[in-house]
Amino acid sequence: MIIDTHCHLSYDTYQNLEDIINNMDGIMITSGCDDKSNEEVLELAKKYKKVYGTLGIHPENLENITDNSFKIIEDNIDNEKIVAIGEIGLDYYYTKDNMDKQKKVFEYQVKLAEKFNVPIVVHSRDAIQDTYDILKKYKVKGTIHCFNSSLEMAREFIKLGYKIGVGGVLTFKNGKKLQEIVRELDLKDIVLETDSPYLSPEPFRGKKNIPSNVYYVALKVAELKNISVDKVLEITSNNAIELYKLKKNTV
Ligand SMILES: [Zn+2]
Repeated sequence: MIIDTHCHLSYDTYQNLEDIINNMDGIMITSGCDDKSNEEVLELAKKYKKVYGTLGIHPENLENITDNSFKIIEDNIDNEKIVAIGEIGLDYYYTKDNMDKQKKVFEYQVKLAEKFNVPIVVHSRDAIQDTYDILKKYKVKGTIHCFNSSLEMAREFIKLGYKIGVGGVLTFKNGKKLQEIVRELDLKDIVLETDSPYLSPEPFRGKKNIPSNVYYVALKVAELKNISVDKVLEITSNNAIELYKLKKNTV
């Protein structure tokens, strides 16, 4: 079974969203990043059996947060199609000016996850140490999505109970560092993702990404590990099913 553990599905991004969902022969977990996308996640997860969702406030969307932003997350935490809090985290790539607010909003949502015993989907860009320092304070599981740090840090997050989210970057010519990490890690610690509409894997790099392209990520993992793609899909899908408590009979 194919599972795209992390994508962003929306009618604004995809004119043919219905076809994209229907043509995906597997499960998709679509992540919200702000109030608007969180509402859309709820709508899509309700409408499509094979779409699950996560709700969260992304570090790039701190401007319009209100108390209601977090209320939407809490109110839907028991929804069986909402499987995690995310996409949440820290991003110092564009600016470090709002570091303190980023940390506060991230930590608040990690605490929510601990309180309600749900996993999280973590975004970390140029902020790996601060991300780690916050996560190690809480007993929460989840995925470090689009992992882009070192093998040593990957191992530290795994020790805390996190999976390493691997996507299209693995297939890039400049993806050597991530390829080395995937070679070294045990497959039981990896989940596959697309981060659609971003980061299309080769041979589609530069085009708008879609969840079914997660297959090309699996192919690359199979090549690196020298095992069959079926085995890669079996192990990584089971990781996702277990972590996010997905129903096996969804598709
Ligand atoms: Zn994302």
